[in-house]
Amino acid sequence: MKCSQGESFSKGELQRFGNIELNPSAGVLNYGQGLFEGLKAYRKHDGNILLFHPEENAFRLRTGAERMCMPSPSVDQLVEAVKLTVLANERWIPPLGKGSLYIRLLLMGSGAVLGLAPAPEYTFLIYVSPVGNYFKEGSAPINLIVETEMHRATPGGTGGVKTVGNYAAVLKAQSAAKEKGFSDVLYLDSVHKRYLEEVSSCNVFVVKGNVISTPAIKGTILPGITRKSIIDVARSQGFQVQERFVTVDELLDADEVFCTGTAGVIFRVGSITYLGRRVTYGSDGVGVVLLMMILFQLMMIFFQLMVVMIQMMIQK
Ligand code: PMP
Repeated sequence: MKCSQGESFSKGELQRFGNIELNPSAGVLNYGQGLFEGLKAYRKHDGNILLFHPEENAFRLRTGAERMCMPSPSVDQLVEAVKLTVLANERWIPPLGKGSLYIRLLLMGSGAVLGLAPAPEYTFLIYVSPVGNYFKEGSAPINLIVETEMHRATPGGTGGVKTVGNYAAVLKAQSAAKEKGFSDVLYLDSVHKRYLEEVSSCNVFVVKGNVISTPAIKGTILPGITRKSIIDVARSQGFQVQERFVTVDELLDADEVFCTGTAGVIFRVGSITYLGRRVTYGSDGVGVVLLMMILFQLMMIFFQLMVVMIQMMIQK
């Protein structure tokens, strides 16, 4: 779909995956005026396709577009475009339990702009790819390192939206962590350097007794769609969930730690390394994290309480 400033987006069309043409002075290439979203389509055991809250991704993209000075397709246009793209690529959705179809939405300033300014023209596109596990650990616990020098976001910046530049900011710390054998990086706030923010592409939760704490949404972390659902599930199961400032000391003292994100829903954290000290988390008993994982799977796959199902069975 395309749109010039002040216009609404034109109707899009399905195209075979391939390169796209961009002017060298496109806003996205020069000034980072780009946003994306990621969600997944799963195949259900009866053959139907499940999409996890596509309208939430649409809302988040629109919030991000406002922050990035970009126009955006409407929520209805976005959800419709996702459904059409998924249906057109239905054959690429792996069988249940063997992965999912990752759906990437991309909104960018595609018009030419030389002096710093919002681009005069925008392009919205969607591409898809079958995916398996996000981390090489698969469903085994991941190992994180707390980054103390580099920050992902600063107050008043763009950390709360899914703009492409946020991900460029984490590449260096993330590559260094992976080289050292860690799964990913956990970032601290850039002001006090002691409050948890999030991992490069997921939100973090700390469990102590019956209380589950997670950093509050305050503009420097992404309001994860999985985060919100997990909070709802945990509260419905009688856990106390606190959204607040969570210190690195609380992290090190936790019973369990987990992360949430579209990439793998819930990731158990096996260890955290902070300033050379490595803390491991209990594997005895069922644990809150395993309970959450099971509940979430059950709700998603069997009860369909939390998903929008594409009702259209593919005509064969
Ligand atoms: N934080 C960041 C920085 C992310 O990129 C993601 C992945 N979108 C998340 C958190 C988790 O968000 P969600 O649950 O919507 O995938």
